Amino acid sequence: MALLSTTAFILRVDALSEKDVVLTLLTRDGGVVRAALRGARRRFRHGALIELLTEISVTLFQKEGSDLARADGLELVRSAFGLASRAETAMLLPYVAESLSTFLPEAEAAPEAYRLVRHVLDALEAGAPADLSARYFEAWLLRLAGLLPGGTECAACGRDLSTGGARFDPELPGLVGNECAAPGAAPVAAAALRLLAEIRRCKLDDLARRGAGDAASLRALEGLLREVRRRFLGHELKSHRFLDTLSGGS
Ligand SMILES: [Zn+2]
Repeated sequence: MALLSTTAFILRVDALSEKDVVLTLLTRDGGVVRAALRGARRRFRHGALIELLTEISVTLFQKEGSDLARADGLELVRSAFGLASRAETAMLLPYVAESLSTFLPEAEAAPEAYRLVRHVLDALEAGAPADLSARYFEAWLLRLAGLLPGGTECAACGRDLSTGGARFDPELPGLVGNECAAPGAAPVAAAALRLLAEIRRCKLDDLARRGAGDAASLRALEGLLREVRRRFLGHELKSHRFLDTLSGGS
């Protein structure tokens, strides 16, 4: 029986029985793990959504051959309550949590994703705009998941894509210049590429401080990232509609 003491973000809480729940966690040391927590139903019953992306410390026991670990000794490290109680950021939490459990494979260490979540939550708490933060998170998560690798150079010939037209090729997957694009590759707006290049280069708090990402660029980049997700999943994430509500539909 393997034992792991780690910190983790709560991605999802499901009822397991009358008294017990299953937590889906992004752990610092072991990636996404599902773990049963005994006697916690009452604690999570009323505020499951409020608990999302709360950072905890936990001990996990994993029996060989079982896909469900057992969680014990849960302690709060950092609550996401502040973000959950602000209208602008509340809708982001379920979306970020669902994205992580969708795009990260279970039981594969994902330290970069863990650092990404902490960085995005910290920046949001410091006042970074929700839409810029959402695009930053998506762009990096899709890179870590291998769906939008690299920067803004052509994945086929290496040419810088800042001029001359670019497309997204879901088969590679990656960004390619018009000259290297396969038929059916989706066109990518220049404004989306410019913002993506900044996101690849800079931290979110720096981008927020300089007011990076005007409305048109954010919308353009959102279009690209949605296309990347949709080509891979075949549909949009359930919690994404909350974001549409927030921005008045996009
Ligand atoms: Zn090319």
